[in-house]
Amino acid sequence: MNNNLQVFARDHVWHPYDSLENPIPVLDVVRASGTTLYLSDGRELIDGVSSWWSACHGHGHPLIVAEMEQQLGIMSHVMFAGIIHEPAAELARNLSKITPPGLSDVFYADSGSVAVEIALKMAVQYQSVRNPSRKRFLALQGGYHGDTLGAMAVTDPGSGFSSPYAGYVPEQFFISRPGIKFGEKWDSGAILELRDTLERYQDEIAGFILEPVMQGAGGMYFYHPEFLKAARKLTAEYDILLICDEIATGFGRTGEMFACSFAGISPDIMTLGKGLTGGMISLSAVMTGQKIREAIGYSSARVMMHGPTFMANPLALSAALGSLRVFESYDWQSRVHHIEDLLRQELCSLAESPLVREVRVLGAVGVVEMKQPVDTVSMQRFLTSEGVWLRPFGNIIYIYPPFVISDENLLKCTRSVRKLVSGMERGEIAGFRA
Ligand code: PMP
Repeated sequence: MNNNLQVFARDHVWHPYDSLENPIPVLDVVRASGTTLYLSDGRELIDGVSSWWSACHGHGHPLIVAEMEQQLGIMSHVMFAGIIHEPAAELARNLSKITPPGLSDVFYADSGSVAVEIALKMAVQYQSVRNPSRKRFLALQGGYHGDTLGAMAVTDPGSGFSSPYAGYVPEQFFISRPGIKFGEKWDSGAILELRDTLERYQDEIAGFILEPVMQGAGGMYFYHPEFLKAARKLTAEYDILLICDEIATGFGRTGEMFACSFAGISPDIMTLGKGLTGGMISLSAVMTGQKIREAIGYSSARVMMHGPTFMANPLALSAALGSLRVFESYDWQSRVHHIEDLLRQELCSLAESPLVREVRVLGAVGVVEMKQPVDTVSMQRFLTSEGVWLRPFGNIIYIYPPFVISDENLLKCTRSVRKLVSGMERGEIAGFRA
């Protein structure tokens, strides 16, 4: 990008969670391929966060590119009202085959947040037939579900995502994040708060939304799948819908295709996004089953009142079809477990650092939780100088690589994190927020 354009972009283009007045420095990426981001100044960085958790097969996977190119020559978009096309039908069939039993139906949308909005609207409409006073939601502290209004309302209010909009964002019910971590011993006392809350507010709660097993943006926290099992059982008892947001966990990230599998449960509604297209283009899907279909058919509107312009965009669907073919083309699960082993071997010793609170690994996610909030800018400066692109946030430094990453590149990521922490210990890098 030439200098003029760079200056214009710096002054006029918004970046996520950033200010226009005093923006944090950005890198000029000119190309991305496999696990590498190529910068205009000639540097190359390993994308250790899969471009915000989406590029599970790396950038520009040839199989997905070929599917998309072929689709582009046929049609890029047609409206979806009154129209069906093969990619929409085929992807729906494929998704219903790989998602947990009972999730036979698909509503396509254009982003993760919008999928969450649709899921919440479906739940309210479902309850309008069954228990009309139920119009609010229960969610977990530490949870994150997106930045649109409804999604923000079920995101942890203490996380800062919704606090600038207090008064505008509807208030929902929250319970503590499940206290028993993944891999710890289960104790059935851990469901008491959930049970009490459902019992107490059953006349108000339409649905319980959560990220199964792994909370992402709320701090990369892994909890015991038994909690999910209990949530399934209890919500069914109260006829409260269970909404599993698999936007971050879905498509193999945790070592299972969907994190719900750790608990062997089927939610009433499941939201998918991010890795759905292998990170090639925005697309989301809301998976439902007979129960929701029938209730909405009986509701006063009789139909689901939602219809994005770009619903079921064929180009995006072709990317998703391509991504599913990539999953079929190799043993992705062994690959994820191999990444998990390497992350463990490489990161666990960091738990001994006086600056580190905890190290945890699940599937292709490696987390180093620090004792204090990190300074993203100074950490990123160091990590990019090491040739690695990571995006620490809150107290968290994490690695979330594309599954196709080579061992060599993964070790480059883990060793950069180790160097970062030891540099901080020696006082050479100011990695904590001032
Ligand atoms: N739900 C979860 C669990 C997410 O991690 C995200 C995105 N980080 C979203 C919803 C929102 O998705 P999108 O950014 O595509 O709107």
